Amino acid sequence: MIRVAVAGAAGRMGRNLVTACSEADDLELTQALERADSAALGSDAGLLAGVGERGVEIADALDPDAFDVLIDFTHPSATVRHLEFCHRHGKRLVVGTTGCDAGLEGRMRAAGEDIAIVYAANMSVGVNLCLQLLATAAAVLGDSVDIEIVEAHHRHKVDAPSGTALAMGRTIAETLGRDLGQCAVYGREGQTGARARETIGFATIRAGDIVGEHSVIFADEGERIEIVHKASSRMTFARGALRACRWIAAQKPGLYAMRDVLGMR
Ligand code: NAD
Repeated sequence: MIRVAVAGAAGRMGRNLVTACSEADDLELTQALERADSAALGSDAGLLAGVGERGVEIADALDPDAFDVLIDFTHPSATVRHLEFCHRHGKRLVVGTTGCDAGLEGRMRAAGEDIAIVYAANMSVGVNLCLQLLATAAAVLGDSVDIEIVEAHHRHKVDAPSGTALAMGRTIAETLGRDLGQCAVYGREGQTGARARETIGFATIRAGDIVGEHSVIFADEGERIEIVHKASSRMTFARGALRACRWIAAQKPGLYAMRDVLGMR
């Protein structure tokens, strides 16, 4: 039995993770973490998630002896502290938080020398399959097509473009030997001039309760290919995170991606 701690347990993803844990026979939720000023402190994590009492109270601190893997879907400012905690106590970590900057990613790489970490901006199996399909499409279509990425999420999302859209852009740019930092165009307005072929355009929609949609368009004159992924429930991310959790429980130290978890390297 793998003992799981969930950080951000009262959040949208946290409650889905608690639900997914309650459905699994081989994972046991033993700790539920929230911020010190959260109104959810002291509540039962299962009751809050709507899956009945689990006997795990939401707390503002973790007991390192009471869990094997921490799953973190919070905010980069919290993730950095959870990373430090897991590093200090030799604990495994699954990070789904998005909006992590290069500094935090560097800290995860450094901690990966000592502990095993899975870090993925999108834990859905379908999205990770799409990343593979995008690399194939970019390799075949090469530099002759215009590439645009359109993503849509709910009104509460705080970062843009989504971590998944950026991961898609990075996969394509790497395949084409481009630097995403140089070729990305984040939105257009006014007299933009004609489109430069080597750019990768991003467009962002924030509306209502959209769970997460990504379309990547490869457009040439005469034909267009679109690779589209639509998430209709957050449980897809939660189940992917638990898959990462089972996998990382048996790995050597390192910083891994969902590609590794799914055996798609
Ligand atoms: P949310 O705002 O509903 O939940 C975040 C929770 O983290 C909140 O309950 C908040 O109180 C808590 N939190 C903040 N600081 C904390 C701290 N120091 N200690 C403990 N808890 C703390 O957000 P959400 O929609 O659940 O998303 C959370 C993160 O997961 C975001 O970065 C989002 O983009 C990302 N996300 C990733 C995936 C994926 O597949 N990787 C999927 C969905 C969302």
